[in-house]
Amino acid sequence: MFDFVLKNGQVFWNDALVQADLAVNGEHIAAVGSNLKGKNEIEVSGRWILPGAVDVHTHFSLPFAGAISADDFYSGSIAGACGGVTTFIDFTAQKGDEGVLESLKRRREEADGLVAIDYSLHACIGRYSEQVVEQLPMLAAHGVTSLKIFMAYGRSGLMQNDVNLYRILNACRDNGILVTVHAENGELIDYLTDNASAAGNLGIENLPVTRPVFTETEAIRRLADFSRHTGCKVYVVHVSSGEGAQIVACERQRGAHIAGETCPQYLYLDDRLLTGPTGHFFGCCPPIRPLQQQQKLWQRFAANDLAVVATDHCPFTTTDKNSWDNKITSLPMGLPGIETLPLLVLNGVHSEKISLQQAVKAISENPARIFGLYPQKGSLVPGTDADIMVYNPNCDHEITAASLHMKTDYSPYEGLHCRGCNEMTILRGQVVYSHEKGWQGKKGGGRFISRHAADPEFFMKKGLPL
Ligand SMILES: [Zn+2]
Repeated sequence: MFDFVLKNGQVFWNDALVQADLAVNGEHIAAVGSNLKGKNEIEVSGRWILPGAVDVHTHFSLPFAGAISADDFYSGSIAGACGGVTTFIDFTAQKGDEGVLESLKRRREEADGLVAIDYSLHACIGRYSEQVVEQLPMLAAHGVTSLKIFMAYGRSGLMQNDVNLYRILNACRDNGILVTVHAENGELIDYLTDNASAAGNLGIENLPVTRPVFTETEAIRRLADFSRHTGCKVYVVHVSSGEGAQIVACERQRGAHIAGETCPQYLYLDDRLLTGPTGHFFGCCPPIRPLQQQQKLWQRFAANDLAVVATDHCPFTTTDKNSWDNKITSLPMGLPGIETLPLLVLNGVHSEKISLQQAVKAISENPARIFGLYPQKGSLVPGTDADIMVYNPNCDHEITAASLHMKTDYSPYEGLHCRGCNEMTILRGQVVYSHEKGWQGKKGGGRFISRHAADPEFFMKKGLPL
């Protein structure tokens, strides 16, 4: 007799849906099979039983342009759980040229008491320093196996020049640390932004002019060359263009140790929204792209050129966004995302852009493998954490900010019709969200998960699609 059993669901098993029961004991998945008996049984016929989603790119309580992103670790956890996300990875913030352990300690102190789903952190650095390199072996020992660096944001002191990029990649290769990279050509973006500023063109419609697609594709190619030469594994965050995704795949074939992530905003929004009085509500970096790039991005997703969809969740309220003084240089950049990640990706299955296997892998298995959480997270394998999404594929759903839990008063997807909705989220065997009762988890109920090194398959399978 198991603690509880989800009866007669369509369980995601060996990359396909199979009719089965799924049993849970304590915090773990106990069995997948037929006629399983539980002290508690929940009928889930017609529902997809999927691994809880793993959002590897969130920014809770992030200061930006005088505002602070609206979700903290607690409200962000609730929103994620309501959408079917059971694990997220956020970022540390380096002060001065301190080492990675100091900023990790500080961010954990901020998060541990608030998180309500499981989480980890990427060690984010702006400045290359001796302490950073000295502490890399200890970083992995603290369960953090990824660094985050920037090829853009020179003005905020975050950008790495080529020499420091080279030094960081060499040091991280030696310590088995995956380097996640914001790949945009920062020098060129600063130049184009200065030009736009001098011409008085800092309206939101100029954001793509100051950050054209080629500033992304050029940076991805350059990063790939650094990866090929140093042998360091790199992961490109928020690939915004179809062309960028294609380059990630080409560079893999040419032997770069590279994998790519895109975000729902690049799959659903396009630059026509960057006009008129509400255009700045859609401001994020890299910017949303022309429709052709968006269409191509879905095609590259379908061709397995990208490994992950994560959100870059960084919500601001309309009041925060309206403080921008009509200048993109003063606009808090970022969009809400964690709660709608599973919905928007799985909707791509209904609209026949991608397969169910691709969708599930992109939001759970692949991020878990790449960031050293698999199979504990991102799988339904018996013995692993019972993190589960019970998904109803047959309901129609209209996105409205009012029905979402993220702490912002608008949604960039307002009015979008989607097929499907998450009906129940289970975190380590506990129901933390259900359609009927809403949020049922608790503040501080999430855990920091110690990560192992990245699965080499995503970086070494030369010439093969993911
Ligand atoms: Zn980000």
